[in-house]
Amino acid sequence: MSIVIAVDGTAASGKGTLAKKLAAHYGFAHLDSGALYRLTALAVLEAKGDPSAEADAVRGARTIDLSRAGDPAIRTDVVGQAASQVAAIPAVRAALLDFQKSFLAHPPGGSLGAVMDGRDIGTVIAPDATAKLYVDARPDLRAHRRWLELKSMGIARDEAGLLAELMARDAADKARPVSPLKQAPDAALLDTSDLGIEPAFAEALRLVEPKVRPQLEGMLKDRHRG
Ligand code: C5P
Repeated sequence: MSIVIAVDGTAASGKGTLAKKLAAHYGFAHLDSGALYRLTALAVLEAKGDPSAEADAVRGARTIDLSRAGDPAIRTDVVGQAASQVAAIPAVRAALLDFQKSFLAHPPGGSLGAVMDGRDIGTVIAPDATAKLYVDARPDLRAHRRWLELKSMGIARDEAGLLAELMARDAADKARPVSPLKQAPDAALLDTSDLGIEPAFAEALRLVEPKVRPQLEGMLKDRHRG
């Protein structure tokens, strides 16, 4: 059994950055599950399909091109909204399930563990995860961070519009009947509103370390013995 750290949370809460830093810290593999839904949405939009139509969205999920996970085209807000639409379709989630489960069961590169961030990792994909975080921050601060991020990429956006989009996406993700965004009962809440990246990471580490370290030490000992 590999170690799993599940990092769920709201849009632009900082969960992706924290997940990447946790993976680097422990030498674990990292998967941004949101990229799977964004790639699905991009495939649908590029095929001129409708992201809320099941047949189009499932076709998109079956044809995602993982080599484009780093493509800035999936990071636009249009793709984010379309990702939220395809993500509400049960057959799309089912089509993406095996990939996520096998990533956690057999983390690439022979890693002893994996960190996965998303909306339903601690609740649906890995209910038995070693450690779970639920990351959130005040919506106005999340919108401001997103505005700064876009500005640094040379994209000018109106902050109030970003806030409205972000809140609409969170509301849709929380209200959908299938795999809604919610804090798992055993997930630790990390509010990043008043924390910069490094203090937020220190807090994330403080929360997961007591669960991850004993299992990691045990696995390392077994490896030495074996
Ligand atoms: O995290 P990110 O903003 O990239 O996710 C885009 C959309 O993908 C989310 O708004 C959500 O609807 C969907 N998603 C999901 N389940 C996940 C990850 C993302 O439904 N595990």
